[in-house]
Amino acid sequence: MKYSPRFATATIALTAVLAAGSTAAIDLGNALGSATKAAKGMSLSDDDVRAAADQACEWSDAHNKVAPASDKYAKRLAKLTAGLSNEDGIKLSFKAYLVRDVNAFAMANGCVRVMAGLMDIASDDEIRAVIGHEIGHAKLGHTKAKMRTALMSSAAREGVAATGGKAGAIASSELGGLAEAFINAQFSQKEEGEADKYGYEFMVKHKYDPGAMVSMLKKLPAGGGLLSSHPSSPERAKKIEALVAKG
Ligand SMILES: [Zn+2]
Repeated sequence: MKYSPRFATATIALTAVLAAGSTAAIDLGNALGSATKAAKGMSLSDDDVRAAADQACEWSDAHNKVAPASDKYAKRLAKLTAGLSNEDGIKLSFKAYLVRDVNAFAMANGCVRVMAGLMDIASDDEIRAVIGHEIGHAKLGHTKAKMRTALMSSAAREGVAATGGKAGAIASSELGGLAEAFINAQFSQKEEGEADKYGYEFMVKHKYDPGAMVSMLKKLPAGGGLLSSHPSSPERAKKIEALVAKG
């Protein structure tokens, strides 16, 4: 997630906390031998990563303005995700954040969060396309890899070690950095292409309009800016357009 100055609203506080958490994590990470870090990191199980995601999700909800059930964004999101409860083995939970960022994220534990700024510019099917794309990043192991790196290189890793390999007791001071690992993950073009394809298949499977994946991608300026943690390119839209044409 990137915070553009013109979206300088409720996310300022979150940005400050995330930045602080991140900086602390890097300092502590440097104090650890990289070989040790790599070895410890490799021993993290999917359960560890999910447990860390549970806490990062809770932290993120506590530090962002979550739309209450009565809010129009919450109502719209609930309506357009009706019937989406368990996707590809991930139990999904949806919330809207009342921030102007044009973004969304999904964690390996099924925590899916959609920003009001994205909802303002996207149709229901375009939002579903983004959700499918984000679930793709989680299912394909992209977010897990980012979380693994964060756990390895931050003091949170100490928390994991202290609980016998379970990421069950991460210090609250470290959660900002962990949450950032999910929310602010920077994906490669290869990962974007894979998540787009997953999102396309998600649309087809649920009988949503797969063309919305293309129109959403076309709303993203090349090089990012919109959904800037998911670098865009004209090729991305073309690839999915070809899949839609093929049916
Ligand atoms: Zn992406």
